[in-house]
Amino acid sequence: MELTVLGCSGSYGAPAGGACSAYLVRAGDATIWMDCGNGSFANLQQHVDPADLSAVVITHAHPDHCVDLYGLHVMYRYGIKQHGLPVYAAAGVEKLLKVLVGGSFGDAFAWQTVHDGESIKVDDAALRFSRTDHPPPTVAVEITHADKRLVYTADTGAEWSVGEFGPGADLVLSEATYMHDDIRTKLHISARQAGELAREAQARRLMITHLWPTIDPLASVEEASEAFGQEVSLAAPHLSTHV
Ligand SMILES: [Zn+2]
Ligand SMILES: [Zn+2]
Repeated sequence: MELTVLGCSGSYGAPAGGACSAYLVRAGDATIWMDCGNGSFANLQQHVDPADLSAVVITHAHPDHCVDLYGLHVMYRYGIKQHGLPVYAAAGVEKLLKVLVGGSFGDAFAWQTVHDGESIKVDDAALRFSRTDHPPPTVAVEITHADKRLVYTADTGAEWSVGEFGPGADLVLSEATYMHDDIRTKLHISARQAGELAREAQARRLMITHLWPTIDPLASVEEASEAFGQEVSLAAPHLSTHV
């Protein structure tokens, strides 16, 4: 399995190429666009022909995780005339995005709402979803392929943990919006909390993402690494890692 970061800026776009949350996951034959934050569709096209996507997964209806699906819709519907791409999205996403397209996506996508505890297959990759601690219905995502497990927290407060998927994930991709001494809302966790929750869940590796754009990323890495008990990595646009 391979994870490529397409965007990782927390909540709004950072200067200098700071697209918001989006990831490309290749798992066997499956090619999954996971979250579609603003600015990420342009980055996606540097890594894959959008015609070759197997599915899209959208964790929640905040624009920094979903609005760039608009661009894919335009390409599919009016450009390459492709249809029926599965879009697995949390409750509320389809309704929100339909406003952008005047009420209909045509037949570009096959929408399916996903809920807490649900499992789906995309080719030979197995996906599970877990409702996080974040106000619009939000689902974290576990992707399993060839005995490797990737867990993505989506956005969450501290009342949900990656441990909900069971211990020992090979890679946890965790939001870490704030520094611990400046937690501005309970909608998100700090770098320290990301490290603690991943350690408690016995994650093998931790990558932090969704940092608030004005935070010093090296300070976040240091705080998360101390809490996790080993060096964590930092998401950056176009960074790829094997799981
Ligand atoms: Zn967000
Ligand atoms: Zn959010």
